[in-house]
Amino acid sequence: MLDGKTAAAEVRSEVASEVARLKERGVPVRLDVILVGEDPASLTYVASKQRDSQEVGIESKVHRFSADASQQELADLMGRLNEDAAVSGFFMQLPLPEGLDAMPLISSIDPAKDVDGLSPESVGRLAIGLPSLLPCTPHGVIQLLKRNGIELSGREAVVIGRSNLVGKPLAQLLLRENATVTVCHSRTSDLPEVARRAEILVVAAGRREMVGAEHVRDGAIVVDVGIHRKEEGGLVGDVRFDEVEPKAAWISPVPGGVGPMTRAMLLHNTVTAAQTSL
Ligand code: NAD
Repeated sequence: MLDGKTAAAEVRSEVASEVARLKERGVPVRLDVILVGEDPASLTYVASKQRDSQEVGIESKVHRFSADASQQELADLMGRLNEDAAVSGFFMQLPLPEGLDAMPLISSIDPAKDVDGLSPESVGRLAIGLPSLLPCTPHGVIQLLKRNGIELSGREAVVIGRSNLVGKPLAQLLLRENATVTVCHSRTSDLPEVARRAEILVVAAGRREMVGAEHVRDGAIVVDVGIHRKEEGGLVGDVRFDEVEPKAAWISPVPGGVGPMTRAMLLHNTVTAAQTSL
């Protein structure tokens, strides 16, 4: 089992030690969050990110705006956060309410403080191999694999999904690890045939239990990024776990796989941002 809880606990413990070391040297470690509107899922995510930060000694501050906040107000705050030496890193919880345009705002984030790693500059830096803060979910996937001793170099990797949040940056990270990478998407013809080439199959299609035994070669390593809420309660991924698990050498569960890693990598990015200027 690719156990995300254990690997995430390892990351958190490393972050906590590093935060303590930085604090001793008088370096502030602070994560700021911009939260606009009252979307219930966003409120829950921000609360859990704050809790995670506190647990490892990272100071955290939420800047709340009503749903009718203006683009200019948000841009002004981001300008101030970029300049404020007490702020190690910050992010804006997405999605934004109707009428606000996220991309110009994200583009204005100083790459040294871009703890979500989603600004065009961070994405470009990743693509051309310059130092950058890495998007949390794809970075979490790589860490989950590496911390379980899985070699990536020279392996045949297939990523299902090409979103800016997960699929594309993950393909870049796998390339950087010297995997041979194929990216599949909704227009891929014969997905099972392509997916079966994978020694490492990462599924981020956002389609509940879409991937089954027919997509998986014997002995493959399967990482399920998908998260779906079941009507009866609980979570399920993009992979039909019971069907794929007997074929796979390794498989990440949902919950308890990529989710905890994503949360841990935000903390990792914050401490990295506190240590470095790009
Ligand atoms: P998205 O909807 O933006 O992108 C989905 C991608 O999958 C698209 O590129 C699309 O082309 C592809 N796709 C859709 N249907 C397909 C099909 N039938 N065959 C092949 N490809 C197909 O989603 P996203 O933001 O990348 O997220 C993907 C999933 O990961 C979602 O379930 C989301 O909730 C989850 N997620 C989990 C975490 C985490 O921390 N575990 C973080 C982010 C996203």
